[in-house]
Amino acid sequence: MSSCVTGHGIALTLLFSFQILHHVKITGGARGCGLAFARGLAEAGANVAIFDVVDPDTTFYAIEKEYSVRTAYYRVDVSSPESLESGFSQFQKDFNNALDICVPCAGINRHLPFLEFTYNDHHDLVSINMIANGTKHGSIVLVASMASHIAVRSQLCSAYCGTKGAVRAMCPAIAKELAEYFPHLVQGWESEAMNGRIAEPEDIMGACVFLASDANDEGYSTRGPVDASTTVVVVGAGPAGLMLACNLARFGIDVTILDDRPDKTSTGKADGMQPKTIETFKQMRLADPLLRNAARVYDISFWQSTADKPLHRAGRQEHYPERLVGASDPYILLAHQGMVEEVLIDDMEARGVFVMRNSRFTSCSRVAGTGQLDIAYEDLASKTIKTIRAGYLVGCDGARSKVRECIPDAQLEGEVTNASWGVLDGVIDTDFPDLWSKVAVRSDQAGSILWIPRERNMTRLYVQLSETDGERVDRSKATPEYVMRRARDAMRPFRIEWKTIEWFGNYVVGQRVAKRFMDSEARIFIAGDAGHCHSALAAQGANTSMHDSFNLAWKLNLVIRGLAKPSLLSTYEEERQKIAYDLINFDAEHCKAFSQGEAALAKNFDENIRFISGVGAEYSQGLLNRGRTAISTPLQPGTLQLPAKVTRYIDANPVSIQLDIPMLSQFRIYFFIPDVAKALGFLGTICEALNNATGMGKVSSRASQSYATQPQGAAPSDAFIQPQRYTTVSSVFTYAMVTQSSKSEFEIADLPKVLQDSRWTLYLDDIDSPRCTDKWFGSLQSEQVGIVIVRPDGYVGSINTWELTAGTEAGKWIGDYFAFMM
Ligand SMILES: Cc1cc2nc3c(=O)[nH]c(=O)nc-3n(C[C@H](O)[C@H](O)[C@H](O)COP(=O)(O)OP(=O)(O)OC[C@H]3O[C@@H](n4cnc5c(N)ncnc54)[C@H](O)[C@@H]3O)c2cc1C
Repeated sequence: MSSCVTGHGIALTLLFSFQILHHVKITGGARGCGLAFARGLAEAGANVAIFDVVDPDTTFYAIEKEYSVRTAYYRVDVSSPESLESGFSQFQKDFNNALDICVPCAGINRHLPFLEFTYNDHHDLVSINMIANGTKHGSIVLVASMASHIAVRSQLCSAYCGTKGAVRAMCPAIAKELAEYFPHLVQGWESEAMNGRIAEPEDIMGACVFLASDANDEGYSTRGPVDASTTVVVVGAGPAGLMLACNLARFGIDVTILDDRPDKTSTGKADGMQPKTIETFKQMRLADPLLRNAARVYDISFWQSTADKPLHRAGRQEHYPERLVGASDPYILLAHQGMVEEVLIDDMEARGVFVMRNSRFTSCSRVAGTGQLDIAYEDLASKTIKTIRAGYLVGCDGARSKVRECIPDAQLEGEVTNASWGVLDGVIDTDFPDLWSKVAVRSDQAGSILWIPRERNMTRLYVQLSETDGERVDRSKATPEYVMRRARDAMRPFRIEWKTIEWFGNYVVGQRVAKRFMDSEARIFIAGDAGHCHSALAAQGANTSMHDSFNLAWKLNLVIRGLAKPSLLSTYEEERQKIAYDLINFDAEHCKAFSQGEAALAKNFDENIRFISGVGAEYSQGLLNRGRTAISTPLQPGTLQLPAKVTRYIDANPVSIQLDIPMLSQFRIYFFIPDVAKALGFLGTICEALNNATGMGKVSSRASQSYATQPQGAAPSDAFIQPQRYTTVSSVFTYAMVTQSSKSEFEIADLPKVLQDSRWTLYLDDIDSPRCTDKWFGSLQSEQVGIVIVRPDGYVGSINTWELTAGTEAGKWIGDYFAFMM
């Protein structure tokens, strides 16, 4: 109704509300129905007039002020032609005869046995309940009732059911009759419909069967009425849940996020953000507050004491050496988990999504035959159980996940060790020289300690309470005082005192992975600690958790929009479960090395530092990562883009290629062109193939329809990003060109239209040494073209090189990659 209203200079809605006759009892809420429509249409911006025989409810008069629209009430008896005529002529005068929407809502009921109904009773019901409207303009919204479908036996209302059935039956007949006034609509529908025609009866036969079946219990579950509906319910507002909900909100997907805590994390838990996570936050344009306020760790030093040598520095090294890692931000960013959560919460709220706090997920059931889920949670404030109907449920509810229990066969598998650690955050006073480096200490008498510098002048100490194979420390003994005593013993001869303590916690190390990350219908998922548990020593948990849900978010977006086949979702489990196993295998070795001293730990770091940084988290061959064996290039399917600097052609800005294109749930297709002049023919052929109406062009046109009806979630900060620059050709594919030709050698106008329209993603490879082309491809001859398909999460999907004559073949190669979207 609102769409009928918007766009009209003056939108007048005429409402007939229920008429009450003496000795008649009104069936529940009839009058409220008319008022609710009035309110809804006013909220949508329409001026509203009411025809009724009784004074409107007081709330009607509040509408005018509340929504800044005009309202009017006319005393009209719709069963009387004279009364109707006078009502119409009055409002024509008052509203300049501007009528856009008419909602005949008037109705009466009489609860009499059928055999006792008189001719006059029938006449009254028909003349009021079935009256049309007496107008010849605008839209008509006819309101029938459940009574047009079913007879409510207890209510003695056969005539009422008859009139409501008549309203429903009249509706298509009126529509058909009036269709001659709207031939353009029919033609428009035909050309806009996806398959170029309007539906045949057989097309909707299945819908009819469904509606007639038991499966059609829309709005009700076994528990009772549904309180709300959404597309995705995320349980848990920790790092995993917030990363997911934030991205879904950005992509324009309806999302509800529940958390049982009353507030966000204020202290403690995760504090170390790895280089890859920093890159992800930069790609989301959310890194600035963290980069401004967090501490940074660039090096690690190793200290140890033995029976015959007191505590001494045994080694010091760069934490993320360029030769091993190659990250653009080669440091750990230290800020407590609440700061990271806050950045995601702020962005989500700017896009209109808020965490529902004090809401504890309790259970989930499937709505038969629909694929939908009824998700129950307890509102801890009101102590009531509520139900949300949704298409998808994602459990980001931590190690003791309740959502995990909803996925058959998804229990955690692996080992829980005896190793336990105490964790203490506070401001330290010490003469220990390496306070502001990350420090691994192995003491002869008092176990191991890990020092981590933190924001706000703080230091985190992980203090080993018991070894992997030793006796587990009694939990009651693991107090802050006990941990401080252990630390003082281990650090001797250095002095160490605490000026303040902000947080204390302890945990037992286990390495476990859930057997399943999703159910077989691809409706219920788990992410983060719900899927994997391990030690906190290498600062992996929150980082991996956020990348789980980062991986899932864009896949859900494409599937929910109907832009990719649901089979895309199974790549979530394949990819992220592999990373979880890589993580626990590494973690077990890392914990062991910690107990063995400097040499073992330094070796373990060297061997795993790419993985620890996050840039070495790699996916195997699969639906999305294809062609690894075809050619040998530094960049491979399943790996992340390598950082490189290039010059943006249009404004001569030097930019990092892996960060420049914002993440809008779209694939990026990079053409590496050593020589533009030589490659114009190739580019022309391939751009034509990519934008054709049957392949990727068709996906793009489906995407533009989808985003037109359900746009990306906007925030004021988008004004500084200008996301539309990157979706000029398609909402799902951003095309980019990287060339070694100089700016003076070509104009944008020389390029094929697809690349002309992609003017913000044309880059000159003239900054880095080695150049971006060499970093990504090894080397590329001037007679060649390199193509890289980059997934929406920044992973390489596929990479290949082509001769200049192979434009058609290259176009087919790209089209084949995207078969899962066709
Ligand atoms: C001492 C310590 C230090 C750590 N240091 C690091 C580090 O430096 N770097 C790193 O990457 N990781 C670190 N971690 C690990 C990191 O904290 C976790 O891996 C991370 O918090 C997992 O995120 P998550 O979103 O999966 O789960 P969580 O952060 O556990 O969030 C789960 C959320 O779900 C809510 N919830 C649970 N059940 C329900 C329910 N039924 N209904 C509604 N809500 C529910 C919880 O209240 C919580 O808010 C550390 C952990 C600890 C304990």
